[in-house]
Amino acid sequence: MSEENLYTFENPEYRKTFWHTSSHVMAQAVKRLWPEVQLAIGPAIDEGWYYDFDAPFSFTPEHLAQIEAEMKKIVKERIKLERSELPRAEAIAWAEAHNEPYKKELIEDLPEDAVISFYTQGDFTDLCAGPHLDHTGRLRHNGFKLTKSCGAYWRGDSNRKMLQRIYGIGFPSKDELDAYLTAQEEALKRDHNKLGRELEFFTTVEEIGQGLPILLPKGARVIQTLQRWVEDEEQKRGYLLTKTP
Ligand SMILES: [Zn+2]
Repeated sequence: MSEENLYTFENPEYRKTFWHTSSHVMAQAVKRLWPEVQLAIGPAIDEGWYYDFDAPFSFTPEHLAQIEAEMKKIVKERIKLERSELPRAEAIAWAEAHNEPYKKELIEDLPEDAVISFYTQGDFTDLCAGPHLDHTGRLRHNGFKLTKSCGAYWRGDSNRKMLQRIYGIGFPSKDELDAYLTAQEEALKRDHNKLGRELEFFTTVEEIGQGLPILLPKGARVIQTLQRWVEDEEQKRGYLLTKTP
Protein backbone atom coordinates (compact mmCIF):
# COMPACT_ATOMS: atom_id res chain seq x y z
CA MET A 1 0.00 0.00 0.00
CA SER A 2 1.46 3.35 -1.03
CA GLU A 3 2.10 6.09 1.49
CA GLU A 4 -0.82 8.32 0.39
CA ASN A 5 -3.29 5.43 0.68
CA LEU A 6 -2.26 4.57 4.23
CA TYR A 7 -4.74 6.90 5.93
CA THR A 8 -7.71 6.12 3.74
CA PHE A 9 -10.74 3.96 4.32
CA GLU A 10 -9.55 1.57 1.58
CA ASN A 11 -6.74 0.44 3.87
CA PRO A 12 -8.22 -2.36 6.05
CA GLU A 13 -5.95 -1.37 8.96
CA TYR A 14 -7.14 2.23 8.82
CA ARG A 15 -10.75 1.06 8.51
CA LYS A 16 -10.39 -1.06 11.68
CA THR A 17 -8.82 1.88 13.49
CA PHE A 18 -11.66 4.14 12.30
CA TRP A 19 -14.30 1.70 13.57
CA HIS A 20 -12.47 0.98 16.80
CA THR A 21 -12.20 4.71 17.51
CA SER A 22 -15.95 4.88 16.81
CA SER A 23 -16.47 2.31 19.58
CA HIS A 24 -14.65 4.63 22.01
CA VAL A 25 -16.84 7.54 20.93
CA MET A 26 -19.92 5.37 21.47
CA ALA A 27 -18.73 4.35 24.95
CA GLN A 28 -17.98 7.98 25.81
CA ALA A 29 -21.50 8.94 24.73
CA VAL A 30 -23.01 6.16 26.85
CA LYS A 31 -20.98 7.24 29.91
CA ARG A 32 -21.97 10.88 29.44
CA LEU A 33 -25.64 9.92 29.31
CA TRP A 34 -25.61 7.23 32.01
CA PRO A 35 -22.41 7.34 34.13
CA GLU A 36 -23.52 4.24 36.06
CA VAL A 37 -23.24 1.99 32.97
CA GLN A 38 -20.17 -0.25 33.18
CA LEU A 39 -17.85 -0.95 30.26
CA ALA A 40 -16.71 -4.33 29.00
CA ILE A 41 -15.00 -4.46 25.57
CA GLY A 42 -15.44 -2.59 22.28
CA PRO A 43 -13.60 -4.01 19.27
CA ALA A 44 -13.80 -3.29 15.55
CA ILE A 45 -15.34 -6.19 13.60
CA ASP A 46 -15.52 -7.10 9.90
CA GLU A 47 -18.22 -4.50 9.33
CA GLY A 48 -18.21 -1.78 11.96
CA TRP A 49 -17.83 -2.23 15.69
CA TYR A 50 -19.60 -3.14 18.90
CA TYR A 51 -19.27 -2.34 22.57
CA ASP A 52 -20.56 -4.48 25.44
CA PHE A 53 -22.12 -2.66 28.37
CA ASP A 54 -23.56 -3.61 31.73
CA ALA A 55 -26.53 -1.27 32.12
CA PRO A 56 -29.31 -1.33 34.73
CA PHE A 57 -31.89 -1.00 31.93
CA SER A 58 -32.33 -2.47 28.43
CA PHE A 59 -31.17 -0.34 25.51
CA THR A 60 -34.15 0.51 23.29
CA PRO A 61 -34.14 2.14 19.82
CA GLU A 62 -34.85 5.43 21.64
CA HIS A 63 -31.70 4.96 23.74
CA LEU A 64 -29.69 4.25 20.59
CA ALA A 65 -30.97 7.49 19.04
CA GLN A 66 -29.92 9.35 22.20
CA ILE A 67 -26.45 7.78 22.03
CA GLU A 68 -26.13 8.67 18.33
CA ALA A 69 -27.00 12.30 19.10
CA GLU A 70 -24.34 12.43 21.84
CA MET A 71 -21.81 10.79 19.52
CA LYS A 72 -22.41 13.49 16.90
CA LYS A 73 -21.53 16.10 19.55
CA ILE A 74 -18.34 14.25 20.46
CA VAL A 75 -17.31 14.06 16.78
CA LYS A 76 -17.90 17.80 16.38
CA GLU A 77 -15.87 18.48 19.54
CA ARG A 78 -12.79 17.05 17.74
CA ILE A 79 -11.37 15.67 20.98
CA LYS A 80 -7.78 14.44 20.97
CA LEU A 81 -7.13 10.80 21.95
CA GLU A 82 -4.13 10.62 24.26
CA ARG A 83 -2.27 7.49 25.26
CA SER A 84 -0.90 6.87 28.75
CA GLU A 85 0.44 3.92 30.71
CA LEU A 86 -0.04 2.81 34.30
CA PRO A 87 1.73 0.19 36.41
CA ARG A 88 -0.46 -2.82 37.14
CA ALA A 89 -1.48 -1.89 40.71
CA GLU A 90 -2.39 1.65 39.69
CA ALA A 91 -4.35 0.36 36.70
CA ILE A 92 -6.36 -1.91 39.00
CA ALA A 93 -6.87 0.99 41.40
CA TRP A 94 -8.14 3.07 38.46
CA ALA A 95 -10.69 0.38 37.54
CA GLU A 96 -11.85 0.14 41.18
CA ALA A 97 -12.10 3.92 41.60
CA HIS A 98 -14.18 4.18 38.42
CA ASN A 99 -16.38 1.21 39.34
CA GLU A 100 -15.40 -0.72 36.23
CA PRO A 101 -15.24 -4.38 37.38
CA TYR A 102 -14.98 -5.75 33.83
CA LYS A 103 -11.95 -3.57 33.10
CA LYS A 104 -10.45 -4.70 36.41
CA GLU A 105 -10.84 -8.34 35.40
CA LEU A 106 -9.21 -7.63 32.03
CA ILE A 107 -6.24 -5.93 33.70
CA GLU A 108 -5.85 -8.78 36.20
CA ASP A 109 -5.75 -11.27 33.32
CA LEU A 110 -2.93 -9.46 31.51
CA PRO A 111 0.52 -11.07 31.82
CA GLU A 112 2.66 -9.71 34.67
CA ASP A 113 5.01 -7.86 32.30
CA ALA A 114 2.29 -6.44 30.02
CA VAL A 115 2.29 -2.73 29.25
CA ILE A 116 -1.08 -1.44 30.47
CA SER A 117 -2.19 1.43 28.30
CA PHE A 118 -5.13 3.81 28.51
CA TYR A 119 -6.58 6.22 26.02
CA THR A 120 -8.18 9.44 27.15
CA GLN A 121 -10.44 11.63 25.05
CA GLY A 122 -11.63 14.60 27.09
CA ASP A 123 -13.91 13.39 29.91
CA PHE A 124 -13.53 9.72 28.96
CA THR A 125 -10.74 7.21 29.58
CA ASP A 126 -10.68 3.60 28.43
CA LEU A 127 -8.31 0.73 29.03
CA CYS A 128 -7.08 -0.14 25.56
CA ALA A 129 -4.08 -1.32 23.56
CA GLY A 130 -4.97 0.93 20.60
CA PRO A 131 -4.38 2.07 17.95
CA HIS A 132 -6.89 4.86 17.40
CA LEU A 133 -7.35 7.90 15.20
CA ASP A 134 -5.74 11.06 16.58
CA HIS A 135 -8.98 12.92 17.31
CA THR A 136 -12.74 12.27 17.27
CA GLY A 137 -13.26 14.77 14.46
CA ARG A 138 -11.80 12.21 12.03
CA LEU A 139 -15.20 10.51 12.17
CA ARG A 140 -18.16 12.01 10.33
CA HIS A 141 -21.08 13.21 12.44
CA ASN A 142 -23.51 12.05 9.71
CA GLY A 143 -21.48 9.04 8.57
CA PHE A 144 -22.40 6.45 11.20
CA LYS A 145 -25.37 4.54 12.54
CA LEU A 146 -26.03 2.36 15.56
CA THR A 147 -27.68 -0.64 13.97
CA LYS A 148 -28.89 -2.83 16.84
CA SER A 149 -28.50 -3.98 20.42
CA CYS A 150 -28.68 -7.51 21.76
CA GLY A 151 -27.61 -9.64 24.71
CA ALA A 152 -24.03 -10.95 24.89
CA TYR A 153 -22.45 -12.96 27.70
CA TRP A 154 -19.37 -11.47 29.32
CA ARG A 155 -16.44 -13.20 27.64
CA GLY A 156 -18.87 -15.33 25.62
CA ASP A 157 -19.39 -17.52 28.71
CA SER A 158 -23.01 -18.53 29.36
CA ASN A 159 -22.16 -18.90 33.07
CA ARG A 160 -21.22 -15.23 33.27
CA LYS A 161 -23.40 -12.17 33.24
CA MET A 162 -25.47 -11.30 30.17
CA LEU A 163 -24.37 -7.87 29.00
CA GLN A 164 -25.81 -5.67 26.26
CA ARG A 165 -24.00 -5.28 22.98
CA ILE A 166 -24.57 -2.27 20.76
CA TYR A 167 -23.47 -2.55 17.12
CA GLY A 168 -22.51 0.39 14.93
CA ILE A 169 -21.33 1.03 11.40
CA GLY A 170 -19.58 4.10 10.06
CA PHE A 171 -17.99 5.58 6.95
CA PRO A 172 -16.05 8.71 6.01
CA SER A 173 -19.15 10.15 4.30
CA LYS A 174 -22.93 10.14 4.54
CA ASP A 175 -23.18 8.88 0.94
CA GLU A 176 -21.17 5.77 1.77
CA LEU A 177 -23.27 5.14 4.87
CA ASP A 178 -26.51 5.50 2.90
CA ALA A 179 -25.23 3.15 0.19
CA TYR A 180 -24.30 0.57 2.84
CA LEU A 181 -27.66 0.79 4.60
CA THR A 182 -29.56 0.51 1.29
CA ALA A 183 -27.52 -2.56 0.32
CA GLN A 184 -28.29 -4.09 3.73
CA GLU A 185 -32.02 -3.50 3.22
CA GLU A 186 -31.88 -5.05 -0.25
CA ALA A 187 -29.99 -8.06 1.07
CA LEU A 188 -32.63 -8.49 3.76
CA LYS A 189 -35.37 -8.60 1.12
CA ARG A 190 -33.46 -11.41 -0.60
CA ASP A 191 -32.72 -13.27 2.61
CA HIS A 192 -33.29 -16.99 1.99
CA ASN A 193 -34.60 -17.52 5.47
CA LYS A 194 -37.28 -14.88 4.94
CA LEU A 195 -38.12 -15.72 1.30
CA GLY A 196 -38.18 -19.47 1.89
CA ARG A 197 -40.83 -19.03 4.56
CA GLU A 198 -42.88 -16.54 2.56
CA LEU A 199 -42.87 -18.87 -0.48
CA GLU A 200 -43.87 -21.75 1.82
CA PHE A 201 -40.77 -23.73 0.91
CA PHE A 202 -39.97 -24.56 4.52
CA THR A 203 -40.83 -23.85 8.09
CA THR A 204 -39.29 -24.54 11.48
CA VAL A 205 -40.75 -25.58 14.81
CA GLU A 206 -39.37 -25.05 18.30
CA GLU A 207 -39.54 -28.77 19.20
CA ILE A 208 -37.14 -29.69 16.39
CA GLY A 209 -35.01 -26.54 16.39
CA GLN A 210 -34.45 -23.47 14.22
CA GLY A 211 -31.45 -25.06 12.49
CA LEU A 212 -33.48 -27.98 11.11
CA PRO A 213 -35.96 -26.76 8.49
CA ILE A 214 -38.98 -28.86 7.63
CA LEU A 215 -39.51 -28.86 3.88
CA LEU A 216 -43.10 -28.19 2.90
CA PRO A 217 -44.56 -29.66 -0.36
CA LYS A 218 -43.40 -26.71 -2.50
CA GLY A 219 -39.87 -26.83 -1.09
CA ALA A 220 -39.68 -30.61 -1.38
CA ARG A 221 -40.85 -30.31 -5.01
CA VAL A 222 -38.03 -27.84 -5.79
CA ILE A 223 -35.45 -30.24 -4.36
CA GLN A 224 -36.98 -33.18 -6.25
CA THR A 225 -36.89 -31.22 -9.52
CA LEU A 226 -33.27 -30.25 -8.98
CA GLN A 227 -32.31 -33.80 -8.09
CA ARG A 228 -33.95 -35.17 -11.25
CA TRP A 229 -32.18 -32.58 -13.36
CA VAL A 230 -28.83 -33.44 -11.82
CA GLU A 231 -29.38 -37.18 -12.34
CA ASP A 232 -30.48 -36.72 -15.98
CA GLU A 233 -27.54 -34.43 -16.63
CA GLU A 234 -25.11 -36.93 -15.12
CA GLN A 235 -26.48 -39.71 -17.32
CA LYS A 236 -26.27 -37.48 -20.42
CA ARG A 237 -22.64 -36.78 -19.66
CA GLY A 238 -21.82 -40.45 -19.32
CA TYR A 239 -21.39 -40.77 -15.56
CA LEU A 240 -22.00 -44.25 -14.19
CA LEU A 241 -23.83 -44.51 -10.91
CA THR A 242 -22.90 -46.92 -8.16
CA LYS A 243 -24.55 -47.57 -4.81
CA THR A 244 -22.54 -48.61 -1.81
CA PRO A 245 -23.78 -49.92 1.53
ZN1 LIG B 1 -9.34 1.37 21.90
